[in-house]
Amino acid sequence: MIEEHDSLIIRCPQLGGEIPFKYCRTINEGLPCRRIMACWEFRIEISKFLGEHYSIDQIQLALAPPTKTRIDTILELIEKAKKIKEEGE
Ligand code: SF4
Repeated sequence: MIEEHDSLIIRCPQLGGEIPFKYCRTINEGLPCRRIMACWEFRIEISKFLGEHYSIDQIQLALAPPTKTRIDTILELIEKAKKIKEEGE
C-alpha cells in the first residue's frame, strides 16, 4: 500500500527540518517531490515504490526538471523578435 512508508522521518535539505515520507510523496501537486530518489534511495526501495504506485507519466511529470518559467519564455520571445528584426535589416 502507498502509505507503507508514510511515518518514516527524514531531514529535508530544502526545508531544513524533519519531515515524514508522506510529505515527500505528495508535495508536488499530489505527486512525489523531484528529489525523492536522491533523498530516499538509501532508506527504502524508492524506485520500486515509485514503479508500484505511479504510472510512467506520473513519474516523469514528478521528476522532470522544472518547466520553463514565465520569464524564460518572455526572454526567449524577445530574443526571437530581435533575430527576426536583425535578419530583416
Ligand atoms: S524528497 Fe523532497 S521533500 Fe522529501 S526530504 Fe527530499 S527534498 Fe525534502
